[in-house]
Amino acid sequence: MTKSFKNSESTTLDPEDWDDLRQQGHRMLDDMLDYLQHIRQRPVWQPAPPETRMVFHAGLPQQPSELNAVHQQFMQSILPYAVGNAHPGFMGWVHGGGTAVGMLAEMLSAGLNANLGGRNQIPVEVERQVTRWMRDLFGFPEGASGLFVTGTSMAHLMAVWVARIKFCGLDVRRDGLPQTAHNLIAYASAATHGSFAKALDLAGLGTMCLRSVPMNGFEVIDLNALDAMIQADRQAGLQAFMIVGNAGTVDAGAIDPLEALAHRATQCGAWFHVDGALGALGMFSPEIAPRLKGIELADSIAFDFHKWGQVPYDAGFVLMRDGALHQHTFASPAAYLRREEDGLASDSPWPCDFGPDLSRGFRALKTWFTLQVYGAEKMGQSIAHTCAVARYLGKLVVDAPDLELLVPVSLNIVCFRYVCADADAVNAAIVVAIQNSGVAVPSTTTIGGKLAIRAAIVNHRTENEDVEILVRAVCDWGKKLGEPNSG
Ligand SMILES: *Cc1c(COP(=O)(O)O)cnc(C)c1O
Repeated sequence: MTKSFKNSESTTLDPEDWDDLRQQGHRMLDDMLDYLQHIRQRPVWQPAPPETRMVFHAGLPQQPSELNAVHQQFMQSILPYAVGNAHPGFMGWVHGGGTAVGMLAEMLSAGLNANLGGRNQIPVEVERQVTRWMRDLFGFPEGASGLFVTGTSMAHLMAVWVARIKFCGLDVRRDGLPQTAHNLIAYASAATHGSFAKALDLAGLGTMCLRSVPMNGFEVIDLNALDAMIQADRQAGLQAFMIVGNAGTVDAGAIDPLEALAHRATQCGAWFHVDGALGALGMFSPEIAPRLKGIELADSIAFDFHKWGQVPYDAGFVLMRDGALHQHTFASPAAYLRREEDGLASDSPWPCDFGPDLSRGFRALKTWFTLQVYGAEKMGQSIAHTCAVARYLGKLVVDAPDLELLVPVSLNIVCFRYVCADADAVNAAIVVAIQNSGVAVPSTTTIGGKLAIRAAIVNHRTENEDVEILVRAVCDWGKKLGEPNSG
């Protein structure tokens, strides 16, 4: 029992008895290592019972509790009811699995409690080093810049903000958007993640400026349709503002022809932005990198280390080709942020000059640990392996008479369904039943107007046996819930 924080006269929040805290800390660490080591023995996900939910309706505590008691609450009421993405059976959404290495690095960064807004400190240098690694990985020039952000949603918003300055000028920062901003048009395939439309919305451009470009049967952007839209808009006096290329769509893992999109962006003077949330780190794999050709031509890339990079949440990143424009978009003078040649206020520019946040956490550290401990080659192998498991799942689906593959497996996402009458409703029910059973977590999406069971293989722990479990569960629940082969 820790007595560390109780009945203390002192107002510091440090413990009275560090030995006691140390023992408790070791127990907490052991619990999480046990959790990760034995995760296969747990259900992937389970709904929390009402009495557990009630625990979280208790009011603000006025008096101290034992750290040990709060830890026990975590073990009993929080840990078993998380979303489950650390589990190899989790395939529902594009979520990374995390690693023990990332967890330990996160602990170090929490202990250090560095504020990565800026100043003369090596943690900022760590973020700059990861930025240079990414600049090199994506073949960006010397002057490129980058920043850790929460996720690709924020990275999209940053790209739109910077592109907006390029098209409307720096005066936007003082005057707001000019009338001419209403002529700016962005183009993205209909399969593009909703966070890009939201970025246009939040940047004040509005979602009306987004053209949703049709796709071919592989969920890849239709270039002819894109060309026709750009031409029609030009004739109507509108201006091409941004072209988005997907390095892995959220529904099907489809890769748009990035090089062709880059050339179109150059021709019509648009900003070329890549949504690499799920796929950009495929650059680590010699097998996948050639398929992303053209990504090196982007003006900006948004991607997530917390997906294929397996870094614990959250760790998004934005890479910008034009570092000066990036800085001009965000840098703001303030007396309390004065820069010096020497001392702690030196080493300008600072990360806060490249984004909306002043105070920032040390997301770079868990990423830096991950990339150092595993190395780029092993990261690439782990990424390629998720694609191999997805291909295996695709083959199981094709070989199963009751199942239908809805789009060819391009990367690490498989969309399929149980064939039966009233298939949309039955497949939605199959997915809920499997989630509730705890043996696997798939999700649903819509492909070509059909409700699909979607399995995104993002977690490095997921193996062939895990997708075999999923296929068996889909067939079993399909037999129970649907009428096979009649639809
Ligand atoms: C996950 C995802 C996003 C959103 O990224 P967040 O990190 O969740 O903000 C955007 N695009 C694609 C393709 C994604 O998979």
